[in-house]
Amino acid sequence: MNSTAPSPVRRRTFLSVGSNLGDRVRFLRQAIESLPDVVAVSPVYETVPVGGPDQDSFLNVVVELNTDMTPLNLLGLCHRIEANAERVREERWGPRTLDLDIIWMDGMEMDTERLTIPHPRWKDRRFVLAPMRDLAPELVSEQDLRLSEGSVIQTGDL
Ligand code: ATP
Ligand code: CA
Ligand code: CA
Repeated sequence: MNSTAPSPVRRRTFLSVGSNLGDRVRFLRQAIESLPDVVAVSPVYETVPVGGPDQDSFLNVVVELNTDMTPLNLLGLCHRIEANAERVREERWGPRTLDLDIIWMDGMEMDTERLTIPHPRWKDRRFVLAPMRDLAPELVSEQDLRLSEGSVIQTGDL
C-alpha cells in the first residue's frame, strides 16, 4: 500500500519585521535567526513612524520565506518571537522592540478576527513596500511605491 502523505504546499511568504526600541539591529537579527525557511532578507530601511504617538524611528526589513507552515502557525511563531524580545503590548502603534507582520503568502487570502492576509494596510506603507520591492518587484510596482506613505532611507544590510 502506498501510504505516502501528500507533501504540504510550500508558499512564498513575506514578513515585515520592525524595531524602534533598544538595540534595533540585534532585535532584527534575532528575529531572522528564529524564523524557518528564510530565503532572502531585504536591505535595512530607517523609517519615520506612521501613526501612533511621537516615537523614535524604526529599522525595517522584509524577510522572504519558502514555508509550508500554516498561516496561523506562522502568526503564533511571530508572536513568540516578539515575546522573546520582551515586547510589551501597550499603546496601539506605540514603540516596540519587535513587530512581525505577515504581509503576503502566495495564493493565500483570508480575513478572520485573528489574521488577515494579505496584510490590510501593506499598500499604504512605504516601510513595507520599499524593502518588499527589493525582493519581489513583480509584486510591488513603482506606482504602488509612489502612492504609499512615509519617509524611508535605505541604510545597508543586516
Ligand atoms: P498593524 O497591524 O497596523 O501593523 P500592529 O502591528 O501594531 O498594527 P499588533 O498589536 O502587532 O498590531 O497586532 C494586533 C493583531 O493583529 C495581532 O495580534 C494579530 O492577531 C492581528 N493580525 C491580523 N492580521 C495580521 C497579519 N497579517 N500579520 C500579523 N498580525 C495580524
Ligand atoms: Ca505592524
Ligand atoms: Ca503586528
